[in-house]
Amino acid sequence: MMANYLWGIDLGGTKIECVVLDAGSLEINERQRIPTLGNEGYEVVLSQIKKLIDQVSESIGQKPTRIGIGTPGSINPYSHEFRNCNSVYLNGHTFLKDIQSLLGIPVMTTNDANCFAKSEYKLGVIKNKYPNAKTVFGVIMGTGVGGGLIVNGEIINGRNGIGGEWGHNFLDESGGACYCGNVGCVEKVISGPALESYYKRKSGNHKSLKEIVELYRNHSDPNADETMQRLFFYFSKAISQIINVVDPDVIVIGGGVGNIDELYTDGLKHLSQFVFSDYIETQFAKPMYGDSSGVLGAALL
Ligand SMILES: [Zn+2]
Repeated sequence: MMANYLWGIDLGGTKIECVVLDAGSLEINERQRIPTLGNEGYEVVLSQIKKLIDQVSESIGQKPTRIGIGTPGSINPYSHEFRNCNSVYLNGHTFLKDIQSLLGIPVMTTNDANCFAKSEYKLGVIKNKYPNAKTVFGVIMGTGVGGGLIVNGEIINGRNGIGGEWGHNFLDESGGACYCGNVGCVEKVISGPALESYYKRKSGNHKSLKEIVELYRNHSDPNADETMQRLFFYFSKAISQIINVVDPDVIVIGGGVGNIDELYTDGLKHLSQFVFSDYIETQFAKPMYGDSSGVLGAALL
């Protein structure tokens, strides 16, 4: 007898991950990953996705009949072309059509931040710690900055297909020019690479975000301290824009920057300056599934 499985793929900048969940228990039955090979071009990425699905099919002795794929950026609902991807090799391609014809099965796609929000809502920290939350904003702060909005259990894709996208809101001029054509986007100020390049501008040295956080904790480097204070101030400022418009019950923060413990204390201390309310009850939570949230959300599509 064929088991009933949910298949999900997370198309990341460096790796493609596949999970197969049991449709009843939602437990992970199989998970594998391979490199994306994005620098070899769009066609290669498509064939990597197929290769991974074939590999997993082989392992579990069953092929998918449909599959969910979480992707960077978003898809234009009219032209069906990819846009807004920081993995720019994807932009302008009709990914959904191309991958469906390559795989020969129905495919559902959505943005990776939407997948993240959905999986934390359905399986993760929201289900377990905040079961009464109605409105949840899922944030990914890593190489890029994205977001997914869930209201009453549903992803809000929005009229223009950009629901929850806050990474390219204007935050501060000092962030400099962005690939999207604007200046000072949220992503250019508080993403991992933006913080690393700020530190480099100040100190003349390249350090990874992880090293900068360590230096900050040791109080041994004023440039690291300044970089972290910049993160705390601008995180408060950027997220207050979401609170002022949507006022979610819970904000879940994923990605490498979201992993920094101080973001949940020092990173919130400027909130009262920017949130238009005399009290702030918004809950901030770390995701339960971390890096795996995206691929689990894709399987739930
Ligand atoms: Zn931008």
